[in-house]
Amino acid sequence: MFQKILIANRGEIALRIQRACRELDIKTVVVHSEADRDAKYVKLADESVCIGPPAASSSYLNVPAIISAAEVTDAEAIHPGYGFLAENADFAERIEKSGFVFIGPRPETIRLMGDKVNAKQAMQKANVPCVPGSDGALPEEPEEILNIARRIGYPVIVKAAGGGGGRGMRVIHTEAALMNAVSLTRTEAESSFGNAMVYIEKFLENPRHIEVQVLADEHKNAVYLGERDCSMQRRHQKIIEEAPAPEITPRQRARIGERCVEACRRIGYRSAGTFEFLYEKGEFYFIEMNTRVQVEHPVTEMISGIDIVQEQIRVAAGEKLRQRQREIELRGHAIECRINAEDPFDFTPSPGRITAYHPPGGPGIRVDSHVYQGYTVPPYYDSMICKIIAFGDTRDQAIRRMRIALSETVVEGIKTNIALHRELLSDTGFLRGGANIHYLEQKLLNAKKQEEPR
Ligand code: ADP
Repeated sequence: MFQKILIANRGEIALRIQRACRELDIKTVVVHSEADRDAKYVKLADESVCIGPPAASSSYLNVPAIISAAEVTDAEAIHPGYGFLAENADFAERIEKSGFVFIGPRPETIRLMGDKVNAKQAMQKANVPCVPGSDGALPEEPEEILNIARRIGYPVIVKAAGGGGGRGMRVIHTEAALMNAVSLTRTEAESSFGNAMVYIEKFLENPRHIEVQVLADEHKNAVYLGERDCSMQRRHQKIIEEAPAPEITPRQRARIGERCVEACRRIGYRSAGTFEFLYEKGEFYFIEMNTRVQVEHPVTEMISGIDIVQEQIRVAAGEKLRQRQREIELRGHAIECRINAEDPFDFTPSPGRITAYHPPGGPGIRVDSHVYQGYTVPPYYDSMICKIIAFGDTRDQAIRRMRIALSETVVEGIKTNIALHRELLSDTGFLRGGANIHYLEQKLLNAKKQEEPR
């Protein structure tokens, strides 16, 4: 096992990784920007290194600075967390070339999955169900493109192979609009992602977002830890996640899980990973794979009893997975609310000093957060300040516990979206379970319409 790990991230995930290391008796180095110098998790780490000014481009994305921090502190491995450099194949490669271990998949795997056209082709070969669409990148010939779209049937979505973060996509409802959209997306893709390749697929009108968590080691072992439903989204940003996904049967879970595991073996996947699917009318359609730990990993940890971050570390050290599929038992239900420093209804960011902070507690409640009373939320990064996770024997119990937790939580000095969560936790559509990815935005839109004077 490693003696010392460098954590190349910030906020709650930097603390989460530290906790995993501590349990494994591994020393930690945290790198931080000038803006995060006084953060408590920086002080809690065994060592810390300031790697640059507040802007992420000069600190958390500064590859040479991170690698020199690993060199001067004698760290053996680097955990990238999520966001920042977590899915940057060049970063993973630089780390390995410099003699450190990257806690994640091989750089080639990250590269393969980072290109949506290649990723989809790899998944099709592995029998993972995908959204019907063009066979790889679109050809140049307009007539051929129009034929492909006719075969798929409208509406279709034009997507950039190199796209990410919800950018580089266009929904097209009629043939007349197709060619213009293709060339616009190509131009944008070239300038934003340096890759003009685009493809099209069927646009699913009312899908849910369901994702499968996997763990794989270097010895060809892989397991799935069930699925999560992350359909409560605004602008493609997840707000509430839960596991298991409402209405998914054990048989469906096993079928899709086995396909994902088989895909991991075929692509030589290593570490934790997530297969994201759109789910509509009983069918799963692969959209992308995330080759890193995800924000919402705790809901899976709560129902599986498996520490996903520790498993990432063990696998990176070359250990074999400790669980076989038949030993994995999912029990109960877990829900996560992402608490953001923002206005609950107009969503403008609300950085600043937290003057009072009382996290919730009690049976089944887990709080993953790096903040405390007196902490200043910097304006430079993601606005998430806290994740509240509620576990119960049933979905109903998890919801009840989450409502209590939200009612106990006090955050003063900044605005948070707790009011929105409280509203959602008693919303009939949410309570029913299985709402689609448009549900929250439609609800917000309706609320806004009602506010407007007639
Ligand atoms: P990104 O990497 O930018 O997040 P994804 O491929 O994961 O891109 O897609 C982001 C979101 O766009 C999905 O969660 C979904 O809401 C929507 N989307 C993508 N493809 C489709 C599709 N074929 N039909 C309907 N919605 C889609």
